[in-house]
Amino acid sequence: MNKKTTTHTTIDINFDKEHIWHPYTSMTNPLPCYPVKSAEGVYIELEDGTKLIDGMSSWWSVIHGYNNEHINEAISSQLKKMSHVMFGGLTHEPAVNLAKHLVELTPDGLNKVFLADSGSVSIEVALKMAIQYQLGKGHIGRNRFIALKHGYHGDTFGAMAVCDPLNSMHSLYSGMMPQNYFIDSPTSKPTDSFQHNELAELADVLECRSDTVAALIIEPIVQGAGGMRFYHPDYLSGAKKLCEKYGVLLIADEIATGFGRTGKMFACEHANITPDILCVGKAITGGYMTLAAAICTDEVAITLSNSRAGVLMHGPTFMGNPLACAAANASMELLKAGTWENQVKNINRILNQELNSANQLERVTEARVFGAIGVIEMKEAVDVASIQKQFVDKGIWVRPFGKLIYVMPPYIISEIELTELLQKMLLVVKSL
Ligand SMILES: *Cc1c(COP(=O)(O)O)cnc(C)c1O
Repeated sequence: MNKKTTTHTTIDINFDKEHIWHPYTSMTNPLPCYPVKSAEGVYIELEDGTKLIDGMSSWWSVIHGYNNEHINEAISSQLKKMSHVMFGGLTHEPAVNLAKHLVELTPDGLNKVFLADSGSVSIEVALKMAIQYQLGKGHIGRNRFIALKHGYHGDTFGAMAVCDPLNSMHSLYSGMMPQNYFIDSPTSKPTDSFQHNELAELADVLECRSDTVAALIIEPIVQGAGGMRFYHPDYLSGAKKLCEKYGVLLIADEIATGFGRTGKMFACEHANITPDILCVGKAITGGYMTLAAAICTDEVAITLSNSRAGVLMHGPTFMGNPLACAAANASMELLKAGTWENQVKNINRILNQELNSANQLERVTEARVFGAIGVIEMKEAVDVASIQKQFVDKGIWVRPFGKLIYVMPPYIISEIELTELLQKMLLVVKSL
C-alpha cells in the first residue's frame, strides 16, 4: 500500500484514493473524484478554482442552494445553545418545531413523527412500524412487503430487501435477504391516460398473499435511483384503495420526491392520497446535514402502541439531533415563504424547452421531464468517468448512472444558469 502523502493540492487526493470508500465504488479501481473547496448558491467550486453549475442538488437535497444565509444562521444560533443531547427522556425546541412543521406540511392525517438519522433508517423504521401495526391487529404472519421493480429505498438490509432485486444485487446477499413480493412498475406516464390493467398484478398478489403482507412500499409518482421513471397518479390512488381493501398499509417513500421537487409539496398530493406511513429525508435540512423522518397516522401509532411490544423498537443515538432539526426548521421556513412553487414551475418549463431536442438523437431512448427533474435515458450505459470529465471541463456538475443522464437542480437556479447547464449537458450528449 502506498502510504506516501503527496501534496500537489491541499486536499490529499492520493490519500483519498488509497484509503476512502466513496459511494458504490471499488477500492482497487475507484472512479475519479474532484476536490471541492467550497460551494455557494448553485455553484460548486473546485480546488483549482473551477466553478461548476450544480445540476444534482447533491442528490436531491440542496434545494435552497449552498451556503444559504438563513440556514447558516439557524445552525450557528443553535450551535451556541447545544449541538446535541440524547432524545431518550429529553426533548427540545428544534425537534418540537420540526415535528409541527412536518405534521402541518404533510398530507392530512399524518400526525406521529419519528425522527431518524438517514433516509435508509427511516425506511427501516417504517417497515418495523408496519409489522408491529399488523401484530397490534392480531395478524401474526404479516411480515412481508410488496415492492415495485425499479424501486429504490436505501442501502441497509431491510431497505435493500424492498429495492429492485437486480439493481441492488440481492444475489450477493442470499440467505440474508427477506423474501418480499416484487411487482412490475407501472408504465402509464403521468400525462398518458391510465391503463387500469396495470393494477391487476398488485390486486392478484394481494388476493393470494395478503395474509403474509404488512405493507406495500412505493415511491409516489417518481421512481428515483432505480430508473428515474415517472408514472400515473391513478396507479397510486388505485394501489391505495387495493391496500385498504386487504388491510395492507401503504408506505410512501418521499425521501427523493418530498418538499416540492415534483411540483407539489409531496408527490402523494398528485393522487390526493394520505399514505399510512410517509418517509422523508434528503431535502429536509436543505442538504445541510443528515436527517430523515417516518411519519404515520394516529391509527398506525395507536394500534402499534397497543401491540405485544407496546413500544416502537427503534432509537438511534443521534435521534432528533438539534443542529439537524434547526437546519430543517430553517429549510421549512424557506419553503413556507412559498417561492418554491414558482421556481419549480420555471425549472419545469425550461427543462421541457431545452431537453425535448434530445429525443431526436440516435443514442437517446427518451428525454423526459417531471416537476424539477429532467432525464435523458440513453440506449447504452455511459462511461461515467469520461462523461463526467467532459461535464466538468464545460463547467457543469452532472453525475449520470447507467443509461441515465439527469438533473434536479437547486430551486434557486436562475433561468440563465439553468439554460447554460442544460445546453452544455446537451453538447456533451450530442458528442457521444
Ligand atoms: C436516497 C433515498 C433513500 C435512502 O436515503 P439515505 O439517506 O441515502 O439513506 C431511500 N429512498 C429513496 C427514494 C431515496 O431517494
